[in-house]
Amino acid sequence: MPGPDPIDLLAVGELLTEEERLIQATVRRFADDRIRPHIADWFEQGVFPARELAPELGRLGLLGMHLEGYGCAGAGAVAYGAACLELEAADSGLRSFVSVQGSLAMRAIHAFGSEEQKLRWLPEMAAGRAIGCFGLTEPDFGSDPAGMRTTARRKGRGGTSRPEGGGDWVLSGSKMWITNGSVSDVAVVWAQTEQGVRGFLVPRGTKGFTATDVHGKLSLRASVTSELHFDEVQLPGDAVLPGVSGLRGPLSCLNEARYGILWGTVGAARDCYQAALEYAKSRVQFGRPIAGFQLTQEKLVEMALELEKAHLVAWRVGRLKEAGQSRAAHISFGKLNNVRTALEIARSARTVLGANGITTAYPVLRHANNLESVLTYEGTSEIHTLVLGEAITGTAAYR
Ligand code: FAD
Repeated sequence: MPGPDPIDLLAVGELLTEEERLIQATVRRFADDRIRPHIADWFEQGVFPARELAPELGRLGLLGMHLEGYGCAGAGAVAYGAACLELEAADSGLRSFVSVQGSLAMRAIHAFGSEEQKLRWLPEMAAGRAIGCFGLTEPDFGSDPAGMRTTARRKGRGGTSRPEGGGDWVLSGSKMWITNGSVSDVAVVWAQTEQGVRGFLVPRGTKGFTATDVHGKLSLRASVTSELHFDEVQLPGDAVLPGVSGLRGPLSCLNEARYGILWGTVGAARDCYQAALEYAKSRVQFGRPIAGFQLTQEKLVEMALELEKAHLVAWRVGRLKEAGQSRAAHISFGKLNNVRTALEIARSARTVLGANGITTAYPVLRHANNLESVLTYEGTSEIHTLVLGEAITGTAAYR
């Protein structure tokens, strides 16, 4: 009998169905052919060719992959997770693009949009002909979005005589750190209204709506990150997402995107571990491959153990999700554990590669730097600790 696969010591991959494994292999081939040859350059130059890649991702069924209808693939949670794993093994920026498009922007329209909004945007977004972004965070409100200052007021109120429900809206404020912001055809923007927080669809080119890119990032460089400005933007009455009011709307989308993260980070971790293992076997110091030193072996073994544990966590949360039994605490468990684990593996892998580890010739520090963003976005590790703290003790400790 052959020995265990060093990259998947516990054979966690075998817990996936044949169809899930097929999807995973297809995404891996795409990442190997289309992303890996270029990713170091994109990262160095701080670019992500969103327009070029979106239709390719669409053809693979990866955009809104877990949504039903409207041109979406309707895949199961584990299949979607396995796809995220392979995307993030290439780069967290690629997985971020797919997460924001599918789990945030499309999910918001799918769950809370009118039939007209769904028909207008979802098939185009699933095909990658239209790109979406999701604006919740503001310069002064990140972990605590309830305080957001962006407002949408009804023009019909008090002044003109528009009937209730038919009035136009005026959107004012700004959103910060918005992935895909400047390349989006439609922004899903969350704003305070008289009825609490509501979501609005703001198409590219709407007068008063501008997006400027954030520069100087040392993390997620192969990803577009923007600030959105809304200067008295006039929107028609049907720009609002009719299906939800309150923070429940954006938070439910974030839960979907977090789910992708807890799989994706397993991919980034695997890529780092694999790079360290290969390097250790060929790098010779003191007359022998460094893989033969006990200290290097300890690092590799720790990586292998933690990688498989994170993989099992992702798989378990995925099956719970498919059974309709996943709760916010399960997602927080996975996000907190798996991002932290991936970051530790990336940093340890970096040490195995010595000086070579600090360059873009190898993926390890690129992944480690990317994972710093992943640790922060979609709920920081502190916030997920508090979610779990509340789940365990019954007492909320956010404020
Ligand atoms: P803060 O909320 O200011 O937190 C700073 C520190 O204080 C953190 O360590 C935090 O954990 C800690 N802290 C805050 N409150 C507490 C508390 N109660 N107890 C203990 N510690 C606390 N947002 C979007 O809306 N859409 C996007 O597409 C998007 N993309 C992003 C892409 C990138 C590359 C990055 C870096 C961020 C992105 N974000 C996006 C924003 C992201 O979600 C926020 O950065 C995140 O929610 C944290 O907010 P903050 O950065 O303002 O940090």
